[in-house]
Amino acid sequence: MYLPQEIIRKKRDNIALTADEINFFIQGVAKNTVSEGQIAAFAMAVYFNDMTMDERVALTCAMRDSGMVIDWGHMNFDGPIVDKHSTGGVGDVTSLMLGAMVAACGGYVPMISGRGLGHTGGTLDKLESIPGYNITPSNEVFGKVTKEAGVAIIGQTGDLAPADKRVYATRDVTATVDNISLITASILSKKLAAGLDYLVMDVKVGSGAFMPTYAASEELAKSIVAVANGAGTCTSALLTDMNQVLASTAGNALEVREAVQFLTGEYRNPRLYAVTMALCAEMLVISKLASDLPQARAKLQTVLDNGQAAERFGKMVAGLGGPTDFIDNYDNYLDKAEIIKPVFAETTGFATAMDTRGLGMAVVGMGGGRRVASDSIDYAVGLSNMIRLGDEVYADTPLAMVHARTEAQWQEAAKAVRANISIADTQSEPTPEVYRRIGEQDV
Ligand code: URA
Repeated sequence: MYLPQEIIRKKRDNIALTADEINFFIQGVAKNTVSEGQIAAFAMAVYFNDMTMDERVALTCAMRDSGMVIDWGHMNFDGPIVDKHSTGGVGDVTSLMLGAMVAACGGYVPMISGRGLGHTGGTLDKLESIPGYNITPSNEVFGKVTKEAGVAIIGQTGDLAPADKRVYATRDVTATVDNISLITASILSKKLAAGLDYLVMDVKVGSGAFMPTYAASEELAKSIVAVANGAGTCTSALLTDMNQVLASTAGNALEVREAVQFLTGEYRNPRLYAVTMALCAEMLVISKLASDLPQARAKLQTVLDNGQAAERFGKMVAGLGGPTDFIDNYDNYLDKAEIIKPVFAETTGFATAMDTRGLGMAVVGMGGGRRVASDSIDYAVGLSNMIRLGDEVYADTPLAMVHARTEAQWQEAAKAVRANISIADTQSEPTPEVYRRIGEQDV
């Protein structure tokens, strides 16, 4: 028998906790026998003294097991259960194509996603711009769509990792979010409760990333890979670039439109293609659906070219309550803003840098994201035709098209677009799309 205050005292005094102590504390969080004050003190003690990898594994497993852990055994899937998670970005619509592409190559992707946080877009918000799409289906429907389409992207249910919900809510108001041990356990407890065999983590680097520096992104990626493998789920990570908007669009319905165009081959932004292919190929290789990266890429290109990936996406949308002809007629279903006009630069030269966070906030400012959790979303607003770093900017080259509801909204977003894209006389070196891979052997 332990006491929460004794566990907090031990962490405060920088002594490593045992798995039993961590389990006891987290069970208390889930059962409400540990108070909000105790959670806050615990989080602050971890913030200052950090956790060993063994402690992080114990914290992750305890939070994962604080609610339901999905067991897919009865579904008799004939392929691996594999997923991807990203630390979030702007114009990062990869999940929508990736799930369908991996499914078309033989994987099963039961993806439990989140809403937008701060300047970053959320996969659930994007999918909710599709009329009828239900992000909270019953467990039966979630299983059926995963089996039949190979992919189902839904929202977190209350019974998955409930301890994280309480811990995160307290961290959010006690300045203890930015600790790598706590972030690792928070992300992984929710993901691993989905009963995955394999996970690929996309950790973003750059001006729109959640982590502030390359070194911090790398440290988070290493922590996640070490802890997830320690918790029994085979996991690797890619560090990918978020120094510019990833897709050509940022905004919910606009990104869904781009995802469909990507799957059908109508239009593929090259950076989005590079990152999506890299993540999908990594998923196929770690889950043994391909023997190496070249084979994985060839398989993925085939399912893009023969329409199977697009078909999987269409099946998922229909299975979760959306239109049955969404792939063919997406433009009939996605909301459009009234004012769609280009923003031009004030000087000519080359686009050399973006404050991607600022561009994400411009979308939030138009109502495309939330300032507080209770805000409702305007799916139609956002940016399209985004310029890319390295592009030459002439007087008549749009930096982006702004999709707004009102002229005042348009003016404000246009100002933000100009302010957050730097133009210089000389072209800068392009940033890579993928910086590095981190596997179990690297941590
Ligand atoms: N996202 C999460 O889910 N948890 C964190 O702690 C940080 C980002």
